[in-house]
Amino acid sequence: MFGDCHIHMVLDGVYYKDAIAAHRAGTRDDIIRPRLADYAARGITFLRDGGDAYGAGERARALAPEYGITYRTPTFNICLNGRYGAFIGRTFDTLADFRALVAEVRRRGGDFIKVMISGIMDFNCYGHITSEPLTLGQMKALFDIAHGEGFSVMAHANGADTVKHALEAGVDSVEHGAYMDAEAVAMLAESGAVWTPTLVTVGNLIGCGRYPDAVLSRILDMQLKNVALCARLGGRIALGSDAGAYRVYHGQGALDEYALLKRALGDRTDAILAEGERSIREKF
Ligand SMILES: [Zn+2]
Repeated sequence: MFGDCHIHMVLDGVYYKDAIAAHRAGTRDDIIRPRLADYAARGITFLRDGGDAYGAGERARALAPEYGITYRTPTFNICLNGRYGAFIGRTFDTLADFRALVAEVRRRGGDFIKVMISGIMDFNCYGHITSEPLTLGQMKALFDIAHGEGFSVMAHANGADTVKHALEAGVDSVEHGAYMDAEAVAMLAESGAVWTPTLVTVGNLIGCGRYPDAVLSRILDMQLKNVALCARLGGRIALGSDAGAYRVYHGQGALDEYALLKRALGDRTDAILAEGERSIREKF
């Protein structure tokens, strides 16, 4: 079984506010331990967290060896003040603030830097991304600071231009990567960066009634096509479910993601995902 290269231990797949509130007065081993035990029971022994400001991922990493799990975490995810991501991460206004956050990740033993550089898909409207993306210049400045401190960069990125800019700025993994055009996919494939398409965050919403299924299906088809194209071009793709996101459950999310990736990758699924995970383990 493959590892899950994008999870959020702090979230539960049901309701983010309640899930976060549970850890607010201190991380809850009674929530974290059963999840780690469940991952281990499924044969999932590698987890990469996308970060949280409440210490859940950090605590999970401390406990993970007891379950035979290798757990990597950025400690908290980092976003520009006023942009998408503040509900779960830490924010900065200036480069000096960002530098201080990177120094804190270092002090707390974080494994890499997670930056939010765009909004999320609007599941009500095909093609629309919430929130303004960072500029190429901003990305370069942030990624250079992280790389200068010896950290790899995991970036939450949606939109063709956002992904292109992130690649140009030297990102190490692209998370979600919705709405890439063929040029962005080709750049990604050539770059050596790893793409974690998190298909299940869309797939598991189909039929739930919260969003129009026609929009969801169109988004999923677009992502599946891009995954297939990326693989054809020799790009690196990793299995990551974004477990904890709405309707993506810890453990099961990895199986759901695998099934969706298989639709795009067919017979080559296992070989491609093994290479993607190898690359994630090496860089992060
Ligand atoms: Zn995430």
